[in-house]
Parts: sequence; C-alpha cells; structure tokens
Amino acid sequence: MPEYSLVIPIYNEAANIPELYRRLSAVMDQLEVPGELILVNDGSSDRTIDLLRDLSQQDRRVGYVSLARNFGHQIAVTAGLQQTKGQAIIVLDADLQDPPELIPEMLRLWRTGFQVVYAQRTRRHKEKWLKKLLAFVFYRLLKILADVDIPTDTGDFCLMDRQVVDLLNAMPERNRYLRGLRSWVGFRQTALLFDREPRFAGEVKYTLAKSLALALNGLASFSQVPLRLSIYLGLFSAALSIGMAGLVFYWRLVTPRSPLNGTATIAIAIFFLGAVQLFSIGILGEYIGRIYEEVKGRPLYTISEIKQSTDV
Ligand code: UDP
Ligand code: MG
Repeated sequence: MPEYSLVIPIYNEAANIPELYRRLSAVMDQLEVPGELILVNDGSSDRTIDLLRDLSQQDRRVGYVSLARNFGHQIAVTAGLQQTKGQAIIVLDADLQDPPELIPEMLRLWRTGFQVVYAQRTRRHKEKWLKKLLAFVFYRLLKILADVDIPTDTGDFCLMDRQVVDLLNAMPERNRYLRGLRSWVGFRQTALLFDREPRFAGEVKYTLAKSLALALNGLASFSQVPLRLSIYLGLFSAALSIGMAGLVFYWRLVTPRSPLNGTATIAIAIFFLGAVQLFSIGILGEYIGRIYEEVKGRPLYTISEIKQSTDV
C-alpha cells in the first residue's frame, strides 16, 4: 500500500502537466516511502486526458480518473479522494500555485500527530485585485457567520489523514465546500504558512462566477444566519412603521399641515418593503434549492475512464 496519495484536480491544464509531473516526481523520488499520484481529469477539452494516459503508462505510481464532463473543482477533488489508497492524502492544484516542495514538511507534521495540515496563504502573487479583495472579504465574513471555525485564507491545498478522508468520502452532501467540511470533522489540525505562487501556465479556470458560487456554497453550507436575516429585517421594518405611525399621529394632532402627504412617501415605503420581501424570498430560495439538490440524490459525478496506480 502507498504511504501517501497525491490528488490533483485538472481542468484544461495540458500546458502545466509536464512541469507539474516533473516537480511532483522529483519530490516523490526524494521521499523514502512509497506514494501514488492520482490525477483527476475534470472533463477537460484539451489534450489533458492523453497526457494522463501517457503518464500512467510511464510511471506505475500514477493513476487517473476521468470524469464524464466538467463537474467543478470540489467534485473533482472528491472523485480523487475516493480513489486514494494512502494513509496520508495531499490535495494540490495542477497549476503549481501550491508548491509540491511543501509536501515533505506536511508529511513530517502528519507524522508528529496532526490529522490535518492545511496550507495557509500569507501572500498571493499576481492574482487579480478584485479576486483578492473578494476573497479577503469573504473569508472574514465566513469566519463571523460560520458555525465551525474555518481558518481564513486556506484553500484546498492540504494534507489529510486516512481517517479524515474516509469521513469525507462517507458524506453524501452534494454542495461540497471541502475546506469547510475538513474543519467540520475536527481532529488535530495545524496550519503551514506559504506564499501562493503565480500560475505556471494557462488561464485561471475559476471564473468570477465559479468563485462566487463556491463562496455562496460555503456560506449556505456552514451558516444559517442568512435565513435568520429576514427575521431581523422584519423586526426592523416593524419598528420603523411603529415609529412612523407615532410620527404621523403627532403631525396630525400638533402641526396644522402634515409634511407626510405625498405619494412619493408611499412609493418609497412600498419599494422598501418589496425589496425586503424579495431579498428574504431569495435567501429562502437559495436554501430550498440546496435541499432540492440533496434530495434528488443523484451521484456526485460520472466517470468515463479510470486507471489505478499499480506500484504498491
Ligand atoms: N479545476 C477543476 N475544475 C474546474 C475548475 C478548476 O478541476 O471546473 C482545477 C484547475 O485545473 C486547478 C484547480 O482546480 O488545478 C484550481 O483552479 P484555478 O487555478 O483556476 O483556480 P485558483 O487557483 O485561481 O483558485
Ligand atoms: Mg490556480
């Protein structure tokens, strides 16, 4: 059995794969214990799958799973985790933003008794300022709202013990926010600080829309505060209208000409309440949509091709 498994989600990263393999295999050669490399093709439309087939022919430590279409990063990682055989499982991106050279240090920390070693970004190089700003705000918002303590500025780059991965694999939920689930399981966890490198080659696959969807997922899966928001908003508008009623009474009784007799005031009040109601329905819809997704119980992904690593 391999001692460790590396899981790499890959979506159209043909330009990165040769260099990725070069750096990963250098690290693997240098480690004394046997390991496997599991490459997950998340429905790429470029040459990725050919490269994966070639690598697994060349190197028996390499296995791959090819998903039948693009299922998204979190599901691709999930598919990879479910194929692992190692006692320690390390997840990293294909674009070399997560330096493979940290793997030996992660394994060392794991051997000292940590079940989760998550890499925490101290700096991000060459990423769009909007993405950095949104990430900064989101991670801090999540920290305030989430029921579990999800460390800020951590991504999916981490090492997890077999025990943790078995637990994750047993979770049926579809809207997987892995970095949250990883905190949720508990156990002894520690951070490993690192500078996030720029992408080696190719374009970012996480579009702004995908990042926002992931962020929403994180919030909805780990917090019910948004649901409670309509209660607060309701209380707020109730207080406001009671205050207004008092004011109107006062104006009617004391001042001869009430300043509150225009249609504009009514229109503003209607729009305000309409906005509050639509906003609350939107939040409800977000959660109901998630319930519907879960209830359908479709498989998380479909596999079109798979090859196990064989060097054990
Ligand atoms: N990825 C994937 N499926 C997708 C989008 C991305 O498997 O639908 C992979 C991608 O190939 C990369 C990793 O997820 O290995 C992170 O993607 P990216 O580098 O674009 O995101 P960022 O580093 O900006 O978060
Ligand atoms: Mg990246």
